[in-house]
Amino acid sequence: MINSGDERDVVVLAIADQAARSVMRVELEKAGLTVIEVDDGRGACKAFREHNPALVLLAHDLPVQDGFAACVGIRRSPRGVAAPVLMLVPDGDVDSVRRAYRAGATDYIVSPIDWLVFAHRLRYVLRASKDYQRLRHIEIKNDVLLNALPDCVVVLDRDDMVTDFVPGQFKSPLPAQPDGPFRIGDWLPASIAQAWTNAQRTVCRSGKPVSMEFALDDLDGRRSYYEARFTQSIDDSIVATVSEITDRKRADQRIRRLAFYDNLTGLPNRQAFRHQVDGLLRDARETDSRVAVVCIDLDNFKRINDTLGHTIGDGVLRSVAERLSKSVRRRSDCGREDEIPTGVARLGGDEFAFAIHDFDDDGVLRSIAERVGDQLRKPVTHAGHEFVVTPSIGISVFPEDGESVEELLKNADVAMYQAKDAGRDRVRFYSGTMSIRSMHGLALERDLRKALDRDAFELHYQPKLELESGKLVGAEALIRWQDEEGSFIPPGTFIPAAEESGLIIPIGDWILREACRQANRWHQKYSAAPRIAVNISSQQFYQSDLQQTVMKALFEAGARPSLLQLELTESILMRDVDKTIAMLEYLKNTGITLAIDDFGTGYSSLSYLKRFPIDALKIDRSFVMDLEASNDSATICSAIIAMARELGLTVIAEGVETIPQADFLRAQECDQIQGYLFSKPLPATEFEQRFLAGSDTRFALGTAG
Ligand code: C2E
Ligand code: MG
Ligand code: MG
Repeated sequence: MINSGDERDVVVLAIADQAARSVMRVELEKAGLTVIEVDDGRGACKAFREHNPALVLLAHDLPVQDGFAACVGIRRSPRGVAAPVLMLVPDGDVDSVRRAYRAGATDYIVSPIDWLVFAHRLRYVLRASKDYQRLRHIEIKNDVLLNALPDCVVVLDRDDMVTDFVPGQFKSPLPAQPDGPFRIGDWLPASIAQAWTNAQRTVCRSGKPVSMEFALDDLDGRRSYYEARFTQSIDDSIVATVSEITDRKRADQRIRRLAFYDNLTGLPNRQAFRHQVDGLLRDARETDSRVAVVCIDLDNFKRINDTLGHTIGDGVLRSVAERLSKSVRRRSDCGREDEIPTGVARLGGDEFAFAIHDFDDDGVLRSIAERVGDQLRKPVTHAGHEFVVTPSIGISVFPEDGESVEELLKNADVAMYQAKDAGRDRVRFYSGTMSIRSMHGLALERDLRKALDRDAFELHYQPKLELESGKLVGAEALIRWQDEEGSFIPPGTFIPAAEESGLIIPIGDWILREACRQANRWHQKYSAAPRIAVNISSQQFYQSDLQQTVMKALFEAGARPSLLQLELTESILMRDVDKTIAMLEYLKNTGITLAIDDFGTGYSSLSYLKRFPIDALKIDRSFVMDLEASNDSATICSAIIAMARELGLTVIAEGVETIPQADFLRAQECDQIQGYLFSKPLPATEFEQRFLAGSDTRFALGTAG
């Protein structure tokens, strides 16, 4: 059978002699074909048009129009270009064979026919014709697809000549293709062409697809990025598709910067530093050498911030960062590279660090630390003010002071605190007996204990508004400590001491209970009661049974879990990922919502957040504060908002103080804002009077609190 499918192929059989036709018909039908008989050339053309046959058999000597003319006619019709046409010619009639080919016949068959080979001939002619048609079809489809693709497609032969070129559609177009035959070097700059050729060779060698990225600058110096993917075709030619990846690349760079670099100084951040030191420790274990971690904290820096404001504080931090980087990079005086510090990192606030490897003895460490101190101590002039910034420096050394980055950082920190206790502006090496608690710390701890006993803590509430509607949607509970004289001590001063002493656990307990009680009170009284957000410190998260504490607080207050939001810091997410996820999932399943506080200051990247079941992100105040002054902050805010949206998270901007900031955030479709623009944190009664007792719970943004 020639036919494999259900539908039988049609053959037009054009022979003048009735008897010969009948014999042939029987043979063709045996071969599984449906036969349309005609007895002259014109009939053959007509039957071809009407029946769209898979094959045409023409006798050369047909009446009216001979076989050759009929063949030409068929070839001229639109569908006839590729149809298989066989010409029947007498054995030995070379002239007819020649004429048949000239008329466009696919092949010829001699009469008298050899019936044994006839069916095979037909089968092969039909198969070849079908293959041809399938290929044509694929080719047409590919053409359509290629022209519809935004990508540029380049086909190269074995000699690296470009044989096919589809320019693609790009925002920043690639260079135009040269006229006439060309090589990649005639089209792209030499260095890229070289990398391109290397990639091609790799594909040829391995047979596997390879890709490369390259960048081109336009006349205005704008850089665009492209990715070329190479595959080998069956005929050994190489097909390269080039796509533009500028947007992706920019987003990658932004995320990397957000994840690994400190926004203010441009220095690597804590996470980047940990990576660096991790690498050094690995090498040191192999070579049996030592690594020192040096922590630097600026003395009394807070005073600059508090008295002259953050803008000047930030400027000072930038100059310090620059000086530190320069002084650390200097080689030893004898010119030998016997001490190779890694770059300086900013760990947070006014804390910097760097690591030293390949040093001979501790004297080298001390001299580097002292050199850094000398550099920092030189007066800094900023915005018309002159400052002298002194550093307290702590050093820990692998392997004696710790095996891991965390341990080394912690112990360098302990040594740094000792330098501060000893009067600041000095260098201290870690020694196992050091204790982080200074006398001051102890006094504060005693006062905190007393405050807890005497109920001297209070919660203030700061509203969160939905930007679009101006509706009150939440309130953040912020702790206040009223001292003996009745003035409030801000949490920034005592929370760290509470964390250090472990007192944060009972204090945190109290905060949760109080916040739940308040949430329920308001919920009972007002239909539009806000959800209350409570800050959770990492000690609380890891050292106490937080699930139980939270559930107990809710239960005792009779409050629904949905009235509570927990604000967690990025550092919590970095610790024990599996445990954290399990804990967060438990909390989330009860109906509590989870937010990441101060986002952007820590070390987590947005892609990292995907793994945690969180509901909301709070963009740190430092970015919002700088919105008007710094392009970077605006870019980071937009990037955080856009990507949070992609992850389905609610975005809350903290510390919104001005209308232009609110306008910018609204334009970026930030969900909620919190800040002095609308209200400072208020005692519960005042909060209630201002935001809940009135009939309207929508507020116009712009009335400063
Ligand atoms: P946070 O959780 O990021 O809280 C926001 C801080 O920004 C609050 O400072 C708030 O008063 C302040 N703030 C809000 N809007 C603005 C604004 O427009 N401009 C400016 N300049 N500041 C604004 P606060 O109350 O001093 O708290 C400082 C930090 O202390 C909090 O940062 C939080 O980390 C911690 N904290 C406060 N209360 C608690 C608590 O109950 N438990 C724990 N564990 N930590 C707390
Ligand atoms: Mg908070
Ligand atoms: Mg915050």
